Amino acid sequence: MLERTLIILKPGTLQRGLVGEITSIFERKGLQLAGMKMIQLTDKLLDEHYAHLVDKPFYPQLKKAMMATPVIVCCYEGLEAISVVRTLAGATNGRKALPGTIRGDYSMSGQRNIIHASDSVETAAAELKRFFGPGEIFDYTYATSGFIYADDEYKPKE
Ligand code: UDP
Ligand code: MG
Repeated sequence: MLERTLIILKPGTLQRGLVGEITSIFERKGLQLAGMKMIQLTDKLLDEHYAHLVDKPFYPQLKKAMMATPVIVCCYEGLEAISVVRTLAGATNGRKALPGTIRGDYSMSGQRNIIHASDSVETAAAELKRFFGPGEIFDYTYATSGFIYADDEYKPKE
């Protein structure tokens, strides 16, 4: 299924000068960039985004870290993009994530772990709506899609 997923480049990714390196991983994989912008996360946005974690003891620290600098939110599109990006991201804890994954290659932390990536069709839809306004996610023909996918896998939009 053609999917869109949300990726957040966390503050450490900006501070460590890894924005280009991390986005190049999605580019070389063949994912299509559908939206991208820099934003400052707020209390309200984070309490919604991390609703499953607000009661955890580490949440205040996580929230502070996520608000330390602006972040870059990205929407990438592709066949099964949600699971593809989760696989590229690797396990939550960078010390446990396998080499070759983003967290496995760039993170030593269970919290400062480079990116957020949506984990299901439902969360991706809710997260994209939370972080992107109308007109900020784009439909366009990806000229190279015929070289990325087989004809019976994907037909580019006309
Ligand atoms: N996190 C943390 N301590 C934990 C679990 C998670 O600080 O024990 C942070 C970490 O930055 C993680 C984020 O909370 O990326 C969201 O947690 P989730 O379990 O949803 O992991 P993810 O989907 O990011 O792999
Ligand atoms: Mg998660």
